[in-house]
This record gives sequence, structure tokens and C-alpha cells, in this order.
Amino acid sequence: MEHSPVKSLEKTQQTVINGLSVDVEDWFQVGAFENVIDRDDWDDLSLRVEDNVLRILDMFAEAEVKATFFTLGWVAQRHGSLMRRIVDAGHELASHGYDHARVFNFDRQEFGQDIAKAQKILEDASGVKITGYRAPSFSIDQRTPWAYEELAAQGYRYSSSVAPIAHDHYGWREAPRFAFSPLRGSDLVEIPVTTAILGGKRVAAGGGGFFRVLPYAFSRWAIRQVNREENRPAVFYFHPWEIDPDQPRVPGAPIKSRLRHYTGLKQMSAKLRGLIGEFAWGRMDEVAEREALLAHATSDEWGE
Ligand SMILES: [Zn+2]
Repeated sequence: MEHSPVKSLEKTQQTVINGLSVDVEDWFQVGAFENVIDRDDWDDLSLRVEDNVLRILDMFAEAEVKATFFTLGWVAQRHGSLMRRIVDAGHELASHGYDHARVFNFDRQEFGQDIAKAQKILEDASGVKITGYRAPSFSIDQRTPWAYEELAAQGYRYSSSVAPIAHDHYGWREAPRFAFSPLRGSDLVEIPVTTAILGGKRVAAGGGGFFRVLPYAFSRWAIRQVNREENRPAVFYFHPWEIDPDQPRVPGAPIKSRLRHYTGLKQMSAKLRGLIGEFAWGRMDEVAEREALLAHATSDEWGE
């Protein structure tokens, strides 16, 4: 049987491997609740992250995909054996900072201490070297020019810490949409979370609340556009608490935060399975390696 040109083209384009990532934090550690739940009370709350990550590991094993788990040092400190299970299953373990403090609230020295602390805990728990970083709440932006210097100085190979979009809590709207080299003379590469272009505007398409709240058809359209028309990998993320409809409800949180946090939790697992089955996915360090070559070209255009 002969293949039509359309079919073989489709096949080639399907070989774009997208980055699949999980931001490993518990239900009470999200940015939306930081003014309602005090860090000092975290140890009194029920920990659900381990069970949820185990369910994610099963889901990934079933679908035969590998991913990156950007994990808080705070979580790794309490769940050392879980870190080893993530690594033993063939996934990448990477850093999400120590306790979800945003980068733009640190000065350079504090940021350096935070990433060093998280890295040591993660490495001691897992026995592997940590070379990837994702800032809590995508909090690397124009206010933190020193963040990349600090990451490079501490041996990180890549960061996936920028949302190149305007959002109410975060976003660096002038940043490139795809991988770029943030530092001259360094191999460090930044791989922003995915956006798509809709009506000439950048729209968030890499996960989080958008994925849960909007119909799956939107995410499918966006990732197809990025893979097929732009021929680049998408970077998608979700959290363990997003597949946990039975998590405790946080009273006193603003209505907007509650809507964003609790909508679509029941449908999330099925939606994720659909997404994982429909596209090709892999670890972020592997995406970073492939994207590094293109990153230099982007940064030259961007920098001048
Ligand atoms: Zn996070």
C-alpha cells in the first residue's frame, strides 16, 4: 500500500517529542493559597502528594512515557523513597526550589541558597545529579536577571521557569516563546512553558488551570499547532493535587483561587490520559538537549 504525501508528512511531524512535566508539591503549597495557609502550619496538614505521585507513576508506566518531576526540596525531605521510585522508573528528577517561594521575592543570594538547599536534598534522596530547574509559579522574569547566572554557577543545564505571557500572577510577556540561551557564553538553556498564537495573541497552552478548565479540544489544537506548524516541542505541566478530587478544601481562599483550583479535578485523570496518548512525550532534559541548538539562534535575534 502506498502512503499518501499527507500521511507521511503527518508521520514525520509526529516525531516531535514534547516535554512532559509534573510540579511535585502538595495541595496546600500552591501559590493561590499562600496568603491563607501559613508555611509554619504545613507540617500539621495531611500529606497527599506521595499517593498522588504513585498514581501518576502508574499512569505513565501504563502509557509507556517518561517525564520530568520538578520536586520541592520540602517534599523530598519527607518522601525520600518516593524520589528513588521516580528515578528507578526512568524519569528525570529535577528541582522546583525548596518551599515554593517565588524567585522575584528573593535577592540573588537568597535565591542561590534556596536552589542549593533543594538540590542537595534531592540529590541525597535520589542518588542522581540534579540539572533541571523550574521556578515556583514561573517566577523568573525581567526582575530577576541574576537568576540564570546563579543557576549556571551551580551546574544547572536547563531551566523551564518562564511563562512568556501576561497573566494575573506571573508572566514575562516579552520573553521568546521557545527555547533561548539567557546567558552569553553559557550552555544554560531556558525552555518556556508552551503558548499558542490565537488571533495574533499568545495564549497559555502548557497546562495548569487552563488545561483543566477549558475543553480538551483547545489543548489538542494548541499542541498540534506548535508541533505541526511551528515544528517545535510543547512543554506541558500539571500537579499531583490536580488528579485528587478528594483533597481537603481550603476555607477563606479568594473565590477566584478556589474556582481555579477545584474546577475539573474529577475529569483530570481521563483528560491527561487522552493527552498523553495522543502526542509523543519525553523528559525535559532530553528536550533541552535537542532545543539547545536552536536556542542560540533565537537568543541572538532576541538580544540585538
Ligand atoms: Zn509549583
